[in-house]
Amino acid sequence: MAVFGNLIAGEWRVGADARANINPSDTNDVIGEYAVGSRRDVEDAVAAARQAMKGWARHTEQQRADILFRVGEEMFARREELGEQLAREEGKTRAEGIGEVTRASQIFRFFAGEVVRFGGEFLPSVRPGIDVSIRREPVGVVGLITPWNFPIAIAAWKIAPALAYGNAVVLKPADLTPASAWALADILHRAGVPAGVFNLVMGRGTVVGQAIVETTDAVSFTGSVATGTGIVQTAASRMIRVQCEMGGKNPLVVMDDADLDLAISCAVDGSFFQTGQRCTASSRLIVHEAIHDRFVAGVAERLEKIVTGHALKAGTQVGPVVDAKQLEQDLSYVDIGEKDGAHALVRGQRLNRETPGFYLSPTLFTESTNDMRINREEVFGPVAAVIRVKDYEEALATANDTVFGLSSGIVTRSQKLSQHFQANSESGLTMVNLPTAGLDYHVPFGGRKGSSYGPREQGRYAAEFYTIVKTSYAMPV
Ligand code: NAD
Repeated sequence: MAVFGNLIAGEWRVGADARANINPSDTNDVIGEYAVGSRRDVEDAVAAARQAMKGWARHTEQQRADILFRVGEEMFARREELGEQLAREEGKTRAEGIGEVTRASQIFRFFAGEVVRFGGEFLPSVRPGIDVSIRREPVGVVGLITPWNFPIAIAAWKIAPALAYGNAVVLKPADLTPASAWALADILHRAGVPAGVFNLVMGRGTVVGQAIVETTDAVSFTGSVATGTGIVQTAASRMIRVQCEMGGKNPLVVMDDADLDLAISCAVDGSFFQTGQRCTASSRLIVHEAIHDRFVAGVAERLEKIVTGHALKAGTQVGPVVDAKQLEQDLSYVDIGEKDGAHALVRGQRLNRETPGFYLSPTLFTESTNDMRINREEVFGPVAAVIRVKDYEEALATANDTVFGLSSGIVTRSQKLSQHFQANSESGLTMVNLPTAGLDYHVPFGGRKGSSYGPREQGRYAAEFYTIVKTSYAMPV
């Protein structure tokens, strides 16, 4: 089987090592062999990026905009094929895969526009006869490290602003999902991104990821808290810019005046779709006691009907878990929840399907408390726990009682509570009568507390990370 190589200095490079990319819906299906890069590959990529940066920054805005637009256009035209490949390597359903590729294409087109819309400021000085201008310049060579759960969208929302604002890039995707990153690299390469401006180095986090953090000018990371913490420490010791988007333990509050069907839909979508493998998943369902029993019965009924199966099979609503290790983690949390005293009203179990894969049915815990491990730690699977509360004050306090702060939601008909929740929820994103997951691409994304570190991603706020401010004083003579 031919090996898909890394893209370094505009050339595809196949090294000594490669890794098979396995379909989690069918472990007999090998999507391809992908290069496993070395520290040397990263050093070469960074050197090429540093060199190519100068020319890229001199490219006119229109040329950069055209390239990004072409990338978005090709992705959109190929969304079915790329979405299917994404579903095949990650395990989300075909529709979810196509949706993600569509999203990625929109991000590239958005930033194509931003290239030419982007400007600075011009102010009078407090001293007479002097002008002050403030401009934003590229940061340099940025290292982008991405997780497996949104292998194209997250790469896109880092690459597009990085390139739009004139930086050069070294991307390291997650080991489990190299095919989506490779496809994106191929599109960027053919769309006319100059050699060295965009580099792809696939490989292990502890080797390739670590080398990126040790050699680039800025690092944007999305992944687990443990990895992010180490990256922040290394970045701080080098005094480079760093941005981390990490885990969540997102609360969905359901009030007694909620539209019951809407509340059930928000919970089922937010907690279980995409196999619960979303940083914005609603894993804590905080429910007012007056609606608790009806809500729980409604969610359980929906879960009994959910079709878990092969990601590419028509009718599948929830695909498999990404790999054997994640499956073990999910199952161990089901045990932990029961040992800690929660009741598994719907108990997840391994499922057998026509093809060998990591199939797991959803778990809904009831009678859980906010101090249980299932409500403190990120499971990252199709597992949610209901916490019963007596009033809004208790619901809000419970929602905020977490080390995380990515997304939160409330289902209520009350304008007053909705406004209060939006103002007082300690999270980066708040949703009213919507699932905690599901976002637009043109507005900022990120969390608080243990969920995020550094400036926001996406939309115009991305410029905070990918540009550096220069203040110029000039006295016309
Ligand atoms: P992970 O931390 O294991 O890996 C993320 C990336 O970091 C991978 O590319 C990995 O190879 C790399 N890496 C690993 N060790 C490294 C090291 N020492 N130095 C540098 N890079 C290293 O996370 P994952 O399992 O791929 O993804 C799941 C996690 O991602 C979950 O915690 C989830 O909440 C989080 N996530 C967060 C967001 C968000 O925006 N907040 C979005 C999606 C996923």
